[in-house]
Amino acid sequence: MNYRCNVCGFKGLDRPQYFEDKYPSFDICSCCGFQSGFDDDDQGYTFDSYRNKWINEGAEWFDKNRRPKNWDLRKQLKQINITLE
Ligand SMILES: [Zn+2]
Repeated sequence: MNYRCNVCGFKGLDRPQYFEDKYPSFDICSCCGFQSGFDDDDQGYTFDSYRNKWINEGAEWFDKNRRPKNWDLRKQLKQINITLE
C-alpha cells in the first residue's frame, strides 16, 4: 500500500506522513524530500510553504532513481488539488 505525499502528490510513501493525523512517520518523500515531523516541525515549514520552496528550486527529485520517465509535475499536483499558475 502506497501513501500519497501531501506536499507534492507523489504516491510512493510506505507509511502515511501522519498517523491518526497526529504522529509523524518521519519518512522522507522520494519526490520532494519532505520529511514529516522534521521539515514541518524543526524547520518550520507547512505543506504549502515547503511545496513552494521545492517548486521554486526546480522541483528536483530527492531520489532521482524513482523518477518516472514521463513524470508530469502538474498532473501529480492535481492529485492533491494543487494547480500551478
Ligand atoms: Zn513529496
